[in-house]
Amino acid sequence: MNADRKELIANVRAAGVVGAGGAGFPTHVKLAGSVDTIILNGAECEPLLAVDVQLLELQAETLVETLGEVVEILGAKAGVITIKAKHQLAIEALKQALVGKANLRLHPLEDFYPVGDEQVLVYEVLGRTVPEGGIPPDVGGMVINVETLLNVAKAQRGQPVTATYVTIAGAVSRPLTLEVPVGTPISVLLDLAGGPTVPHYRVIEGGPMTGELISQPAIDSHIAAAKKTTTGVIVLPADHWLVSQPGLNLGIILQRAQSACCQCRICTDLCPRHLLGHDLNPHLILNALNHGQASNPDAYTQAFLCSDCGVCELYACPVELSPRRVYQAIKLELTRQGLKNPHRRKVTPKVAWVGRHIPISSLISRLGLEKYDHPAPLSKVEFSLRQVAIALQQHIGVSARALVKAGDKVEIGQIIATPPPDKLGAVLHASISGRIKEVTEAMVVIAGE
Ligand code: SF4
Ligand code: SF4
Repeated sequence: MNADRKELIANVRAAGVVGAGGAGFPTHVKLAGSVDTIILNGAECEPLLAVDVQLLELQAETLVETLGEVVEILGAKAGVITIKAKHQLAIEALKQALVGKANLRLHPLEDFYPVGDEQVLVYEVLGRTVPEGGIPPDVGGMVINVETLLNVAKAQRGQPVTATYVTIAGAVSRPLTLEVPVGTPISVLLDLAGGPTVPHYRVIEGGPMTGELISQPAIDSHIAAAKKTTTGVIVLPADHWLVSQPGLNLGIILQRAQSACCQCRICTDLCPRHLLGHDLNPHLILNALNHGQASNPDAYTQAFLCSDCGVCELYACPVELSPRRVYQAIKLELTRQGLKNPHRRKVTPKVAWVGRHIPISSLISRLGLEKYDHPAPLSKVEFSLRQVAIALQQHIGVSARALVKAGDKVEIGQIIATPPPDKLGAVLHASISGRIKEVTEAMVVIAGE
């Protein structure tokens, strides 16, 4: 490994950079891989979210410069910026920034879900399919999120990750996108968006397809807070389908599946991973459970191939069943038993791949989100914070361990927690200056000055 790459990895590690658009994979580990193409993921395919496209437009030069720097340091051949073709303003800004950059190019994308899924993106850009159980570097590609690349740029200047970009949308008075300190309470974000427009509401952290419902007590007690990976906070009426569906417990889901699954297999026919060629057949897992086919282990271990995209549950199934939730439960249990994904086949996309893309307009309509589909402009809003709650687990790997205790004074950017030595994880920094109010197993709370 050359000295420049070692320095880049050290800077990114010290800054605590993790994948900002997803599960929070530590970026310093990703940058250690060898690939020929680095793909900047500007697809942002979940409805209502508006972070990446605005960053691509407003910070085009920084993103292009940093992508070029990373391509060079990693010894890759090319960098590709992906963005949906419909975002013309951002595309114009990127085209100008790309002038004279021979090894960087733009790749406009169609407007479908889930084009931002890493494996889908690699296929769309490079025409290569990631094998079952594999990752993009297996086929020479590295996918990096837009906000993550900006954090890499800051890391190269010695600045740690202390803030995150969040779109606050849905049933709020003033949808907007903000850069806020990591740990900003969700309750504060709702206020900054003018508050909910309905008396009874619930909040989803993330996008409507893959986000998670946040409990109201966690919001009221200010424990629920923005993480490095938080891209959206979606407010919806408490009786909205996207609230009631994920709220169902597994027992009810299985009961419903027994009485209502007609084996139409639409869930399988529209499953993006199935269409990419993976041996993932969501209709079969419900069939196996309904008919007690415990002897067919493949039906169960296919759960490892599910990307949690939500298409089967929230778009495909005509009777609102959820193979995704069943797969999640199976994956959890198989992992608990120490089993690993046995599926490793090379795959070839189905002929139907293109014909079964899910247009975002259809998805928005199916999800009942038309009335919330408004711009959420990136805005600067002055506000002060009484406290931030910084989760110790906001990345893939092992929870960070707090280095501070109640009463300690901290400055913004100071390291407050690190992962155990030699374990996968990321360091955490104070996102505001103040005094440590509380340290629990799950978080560090800082009271502002
Ligand atoms: S789409 Fe729904 S009803 Fe049809 S096979 Fe899948 S789970 Fe069963
Ligand atoms: S959530 Fe459903 S549609 Fe998406 S990958 Fe998993 S099984 Fe396929």
